[in-house]
Amino acid sequence: MIYLDNNATTRPLPEVIAAMQHALECGWGNPSSKHPKGQDAKTLLAAARAEISAFIGAQPVEVVFTSGATESNHHVLHGALMRPDMPRRIILSAVEHAGFLKSALRLRQDGVEVVLLDVDTEGRVKIESLRAALEHDAALVSVMAANNETGVLQPVAEICALVHSRGIPMHVDATQIAGKLPFSFAGCGADLLSLSAHKLHGPKGIGALLIRKGLTWPVMFSGQQERGRRGGTENLPGIAGFAAAARHAMATLHDEAERQTRLREAFEARLRAIPACVIHGAGAARLPNTISLRIDGLSADRLLGTLEREGICASSGAACSSGGSNPSHVLLAMGIEASQALGAIRISLGSDTDAEQLSRLADLLQTMSESLRSAASVG
Ligand code: PLP
Repeated sequence: MIYLDNNATTRPLPEVIAAMQHALECGWGNPSSKHPKGQDAKTLLAAARAEISAFIGAQPVEVVFTSGATESNHHVLHGALMRPDMPRRIILSAVEHAGFLKSALRLRQDGVEVVLLDVDTEGRVKIESLRAALEHDAALVSVMAANNETGVLQPVAEICALVHSRGIPMHVDATQIAGKLPFSFAGCGADLLSLSAHKLHGPKGIGALLIRKGLTWPVMFSGQQERGRRGGTENLPGIAGFAAAARHAMATLHDEAERQTRLREAFEARLRAIPACVIHGAGAARLPNTISLRIDGLSADRLLGTLEREGICASSGAACSSGGSNPSHVLLAMGIEASQALGAIRISLGSDTDAEQLSRLADLLQTMSESLRSAASVG
């Protein structure tokens, strides 16, 4: 099996599994308990928080553990609207993660004005669209750091500076960039940031919302855990696994980013020689590991079906929309025709990917494209 769907999820590392097992065996106490068993768990929790905050360039007090980026994004949206004296208006890019967009657009039913920022043909937010949106006050601006479907990077530092000049809180969904390229909460200038551990070889069901120190942001009013911001007994095995993944990412990120960039460039050189093969967002800076492509005349279902029979796991362009038969909102926002967007597939490399696997994939895509062309010429 060749696994090329690392933007959907990644394989948990052995050290992640070991850290989780250790937390289950030795850190099963409740970190809120005052007795020694609770204090053991509390010590593990503090160590994990320190490692994760160092990894993402934040202070430990800025980290609120959540069940993952979906929950973090939810708290960002609803927190923005719960803050006193805030306008009921939020601004986000048209290419945000499908789940996040869906929950933002749902707010329109409650009378919230939701402004979507245009992107250019490569999928980058148009700064003039942001400037126009900022002519009126808003409770929040949210732009992702890297797109999950195309890998296209957004100019987040520039966007954050512009948003701050209007005194509006800025959120960055860093779920896909974390662990793939150097990225820091402090460095990008965001007020809020979302993460999920399973995108960087950690466990599922654990992530974080970072809240800039000094910013009061309503999250969840219940227990006293997470400084009263997100109640509920902490998922210590998940948090310990997340910390092990963060430690691994810090140690390997630079080399791995370079290695995957080389692999991706060689693979894309092969793709460029395949008739009617198009790489989406090819003109923009992208994640080292992500390629969104189509071969005009072939549907994503057909491409993926063939790849699956050959033991290759990839996903459709609209990787996160259920059903998979709708064109990707990201590609539509980039001005790609719906019929063409329906042909998009996403290849996302990981630490297990090598040149031989990608060469096999390129051979298959080439054969499919050639058979299509020869069938068309016979017909
Ligand atoms: N944001 C982005 C950019 C993502 O790629 C994903 C997952 O694909 C999410 C948020 C949601 O992450 P999770 O399913 O771990 O909550």
